Amino acid sequence: DNMVKLLDLQAITMMHGNEYRAAVNRVIESGWFLQGNENKQFEADYARYIGTDECIAVANGLDALYLIMRAYKEMGFMQDGDEIIVPANTYIATILAITKNDLTPVLVEPTWDNLEIDIDKIEEAITPKTKGVMIVHLYGRVAYNDKVGEICKKHHLKLMEDCAQSHGCSWKGVKTGALGDAAAHSFYPGKNLGAFGDAGAVTTSNPELASIIRTLANYGSQKKYMFKYVGMNSRMSEPDAAVLYVKLKYLNEDNKKRQELAAYYYENIKNPLITLPARIADENNVYHQFPIFCERRDELQKFLADNGVQTLIHYPIPPHHQECYIEAAWNKPQLSLPISEKIHEQELSIPMNQVILMEEAKIVVDALNAFK
Ligand SMILES: *Cc1c(COP(=O)(O)O)cnc(C)c1O
Repeated sequence: DNMVKLLDLQAITMMHGNEYRAAVNRVIESGWFLQGNENKQFEADYARYIGTDECIAVANGLDALYLIMRAYKEMGFMQDGDEIIVPANTYIATILAITKNDLTPVLVEPTWDNLEIDIDKIEEAITPKTKGVMIVHLYGRVAYNDKVGEICKKHHLKLMEDCAQSHGCSWKGVKTGALGDAAAHSFYPGKNLGAFGDAGAVTTSNPELASIIRTLANYGSQKKYMFKYVGMNSRMSEPDAAVLYVKLKYLNEDNKKRQELAAYYYENIKNPLITLPARIADENNVYHQFPIFCERRDELQKFLADNGVQTLIHYPIPPHHQECYIEAAWNKPQLSLPISEKIHEQELSIPMNQVILMEEAKIVVDALNAFK
């Protein structure tokens, strides 16, 4: 139909369809599908783009998050039951990676205007068991500032980044993915840098960490048929690496288009019933999503659908209210997270991507401004 789509992956892919076909064909003709030159080339290029010494391509973003903390456990920096500080309003994968490592998530509120972890609340959440801080650059907005770095140094904590939504975003000229000790990236098809299936990566400038992650992701093996760790199988396919190598060349351009659309939204959405997140510099926001907030969110979503605008909620239920964690020991009933809960009650993501036409952006704005 003729809805303004939240994300039109077909149109996005067709922008460079022939280049992707050529890349995939190259792999088909090589007959080499895992751990080959395409992975090597993409890893080198992505590490250069992010600004780290190392990039390890893995199977998806959740594995990337999991493997960072798993490697820190193998290195003796973290042990079962240690605490990781994490924003309460993140996607479930961030929390899963912590609990699957038998570590304890300590949920910290975001701020209402910035939507990222409240940095002033990090220090009061630190206990003798705290071993790391996992920041999440949610919606494409940078979650880092110099204070986070200083707190982690002062308390000897590992600073980890969830960059699943922030490809190309930076802080004072340093890319997300190079701001802390290690970072996880997802190339899920819908992300700013998306593959043709599941894919992910870890970036770090710590060679020992990188080597352990690479080994863990390859069945725990460094030498064929010799297994040093109880590892897992988490590798990126060669066709995906080939496609991502092409796509990375267009990432900055694509992000610029998102930023132009965001500027149009900020200048033209004028409805007292709708709140927009604080506007920050383009360097600090690659607009993976454009979240808006409304007390009558569900009504607004229906109104927009009736007026030809597709939207999605990120996310309807916060992790601490999910069935899988209701009984968890760290999920105390008295846990009070009013800002996270308000975000989950009021958030609505409006169409945001690099192929939206001006006419479509106008349809979105007109519909938003017509809501009473
Ligand atoms: C997408 C996403 C992930 C997980 O990535 P997958 O590749 O889907 O496993 C992790 N964290 C955040 C914030 C995400 O948006």
